[in-house]
Amino acid sequence: MIPAGFDYHAPRSVADAVKLLGSLPDAKLLAGGHSLLPMMKLRFATPGALIDLGKITTLRGVSEAGGEIRIGAMTTEHELLHSKLVAEKLPLLAEGVAQIADPQVRYRGTIGGDICHGDPANDHPSLMLALDASFVLTGPKGERVVKAESYFVGVYTTQAAADEILTQIRIPVPAAGCGWSYSKFKRKTGDFATAAAAVLLQMKGGTVAKVSIALTNVGATPIKARQAEQALLGKAIDDATLNEAARLAMGSCSATACPRGTPDYKTAMAGEMTRRALLAAQARAKP
Ligand code: FAD
Repeated sequence: MIPAGFDYHAPRSVADAVKLLGSLPDAKLLAGGHSLLPMMKLRFATPGALIDLGKITTLRGVSEAGGEIRIGAMTTEHELLHSKLVAEKLPLLAEGVAQIADPQVRYRGTIGGDICHGDPANDHPSLMLALDASFVLTGPKGERVVKAESYFVGVYTTQAAADEILTQIRIPVPAAGCGWSYSKFKRKTGDFATAAAAVLLQMKGGTVAKVSIALTNVGATPIKARQAEQALLGKAIDDATLNEAARLAMGSCSATACPRGTPDYKTAMAGEMTRRALLAAQARAKP
């Protein structure tokens, strides 16, 4: 289908974009367009105006400052995948991005759009939870920083107000020696997850010193598997602890049916992805 008519604006600064967003009541921000345009073509979204962020160069790029990796919201998946800084400092993010869609989508799709869309089937939301990211939101009153763990409110709903733009993603650099894995179960290459698990793991003396587990597409938001995390602390990773972690992770899920599976199936896959991600992370962690 063809989208309904809309006006098009392409500001060159965040300040101008914020001004436009405040003055056009039914405007939507346009990033890579890979989620918004399909929705417009299906007429699920009929914005009166699009504010394209593509010409705002300050919204692109990856840098390091104050023990954090800072990523501009308009940085594409392709750019993340080829960033040396991301590969060196955030291998979990690199592994997750490599599993998003296909090269065509990754050339245009942005990390900011993936986060702001609020789709729990998207991969960045759970990666951001596992990495303890924070989001810089810029609006008419200035900037505020929101933690990923409180950002996602429900399906297609986030803490960002209608007049705010996600401008930057801040991710603390994980401790040296951390293991990581993004284990994603999907029906075919390029598909969204049936379920996935993002794991960041720190071992000390052969037992778990710190662990972060976040799940994709098994709830209205990405889910932090806190009980599984708690149960692993101070334990070695073996069959018994893996089974218990998978069981507890499944208990954190509140999956609904979608074209990728029934709630029970998706929950079972989340358990299995948790087990696989923990094993892979352990193999990469310095003991
Ligand atoms: P857009 O579509 O332009 O915007 C999405 C929403 O976010 C809109 O509401 C827009 O107004 C808002 N928005 C965008 N940027 C900002 C900002 N800076 N501040 C505030 N609001 C903003 N995603 C996955 O995670 N995993 C997958 O496996 C996957 N597979 C896909 C397969 C296909 C075939 C397609 C078409 C898409 C797939 N996607 C997948 C989604 C893809 O990653 C999208 O690019 C992403 O969801 C949205 O990013 P975008 O830059 O295209 O944003």
